[in-house]
Amino acid sequence: MASQLEYDLKHYINGQQVAGISGRYSSVYNPAIGKVISQTPLASGDEVRSAIAAAHAAFPAWSETPPGKRAQVMFNFRSLIIEHMDEIATLVSREHGKTIDDAKGSITRGLEVVEFACGISQLLKGEYSENVAGGVDTWNMRQPLGVCAGITPFNFPAMVPMWMFPMAIACGNTFILKPSEKNPSCSLRLAELLTEAGLPNGVFNVVNGDKEAVDTLLTDDRVQAISFVGSTPIGEYIYQTGCANNKRVQALCGAKNHMVIMEDADIDQVVDAVMGAAYGSAGERCMAISVVVSVGDSAADAMLEKLVPRVSSLKVGPYTDSEAEMGPVITPESQSRIKGYIDAGVAEGASLLIDGRDLTVKGHENGCFVGATIFDQVTPDMSIYTDEIFGPVLCVVRVETYEEAVKIINEHEYGNGTAIFTRDGDAARNFAHRIQIGMVGVNVPIPVPMAFHSFGGWKRSLFGDHHIHGPEGVRFYTRMKTVTTRWPSGMRSGAVFNFKAGGEH
Ligand code: NAD
Repeated sequence: MASQLEYDLKHYINGQQVAGISGRYSSVYNPAIGKVISQTPLASGDEVRSAIAAAHAAFPAWSETPPGKRAQVMFNFRSLIIEHMDEIATLVSREHGKTIDDAKGSITRGLEVVEFACGISQLLKGEYSENVAGGVDTWNMRQPLGVCAGITPFNFPAMVPMWMFPMAIACGNTFILKPSEKNPSCSLRLAELLTEAGLPNGVFNVVNGDKEAVDTLLTDDRVQAISFVGSTPIGEYIYQTGCANNKRVQALCGAKNHMVIMEDADIDQVVDAVMGAAYGSAGERCMAISVVVSVGDSAADAMLEKLVPRVSSLKVGPYTDSEAEMGPVITPESQSRIKGYIDAGVAEGASLLIDGRDLTVKGHENGCFVGATIFDQVTPDMSIYTDEIFGPVLCVVRVETYEEAVKIINEHEYGNGTAIFTRDGDAARNFAHRIQIGMVGVNVPIPVPMAFHSFGGWKRSLFGDHHIHGPEGVRFYTRMKTVTTRWPSGMRSGAVFNFKAGGEH
């Protein structure tokens, strides 16, 4: 078996690559050819505990390192990512399938979090109140938590880990990343670049694995906080288990993102937006638009008249084809699951306008491709509407009124992202105010907040109290301490046995 594989995969613990010894492996595909190209070692509990021990040992010195010096490592890391952009993008595309341009775009979004983390000295500044009582001052500081862990999905092998570890590390924590077993190469390379950037050994570690590795992280007392990004059932389990083990947990989960089109929308703008938002990265984005809700038939009819020919001529191909606009999905299992949803949509009575089930790409006949698909006349009881398909399948739902559009979105279990396309400022303002969704776009189909804001959904798209990166990232990866100070030369109030109004201490 080993001779057929293209390369080896290991863990990265305490500043070096470490071979897996559990004897358990998971297959890594090159989805463009539908072939297994490597095997991810799945860590045993003991292997994970050796990473936790390294991170635990590195914490005292790293947390005492001044923020400006921690930021210097982030500045170096930023330069190294830019220098190695082509190489990292190829690692992402080879194991994920997305186009090279898309991979570079996602790395850049992660890089922006690194850039935000470079300002950590400013971000960690506390607050100070002088003379809160006679001769008494109060100030607060934010201190790191200790060992933090990140568990990440397959769809953004560079960006999602970089939503987490730059913030955690810059705040003074040490970190263990458990990337998706489907595409771990990018995380392992980022670990090497962090070491090259000057990060001390043990501050950042990568353990590959499955449930056994995750459960070890969730139950070990030395791990203080868990960031998770992935599907809702797993995220809910991680949130509940992590909280039961007294950890701080943020779990960002699945999505079904609706785009409302009003009758006054600019239809050309809508069509461009849908093309990128529904089919970019083969729909494997937690912010992909998977449902268009048309208020009135005329907007849907006008959109479909222009959208159908565009989708029919979408260029699907491997990442090695620079002309390709959309790549394959992640694995043969995922390909069958998505095709199964298209079967279900037909059986449930939706109108299949474009069928992606039979697409083959010349020269890549075994690739995990699914063609771009459109269903019209979808209703909220159908599985293609209720479930996250996570593939290039767009559902068009027609409603008669704006109120109906708001109602179905608010009633959906997921609440990650949404958008409204309109020229009507009143409608847009009303939508932003009333919609039960974490990230809202007005004529912006994928409203992903920049690194200096924070990213996160509502309802069953996020478990926990904190969104990720930006100011919320600093709050998640630190805890506040408040110090109240009186010096002997200050005013004395004598012994006090009861709380008094006016802040007297
Ligand atoms: P997944 O839930 O299958 O896997 C996510 C992580 O959990 C992986 O590291 C995986 O190894 C681990 N895992 C899987 N099964 C586990 C188990 N039984 N116990 C413990 N850990 C387990 O998700 P995926 O298929 O890799 O990614 C796609 C999902 O991620 C979609 O639902 C997508 O919406 C979601 N996602 C959400 C966001 C967001 O910000 N909300 C961003 C990206 C992806």
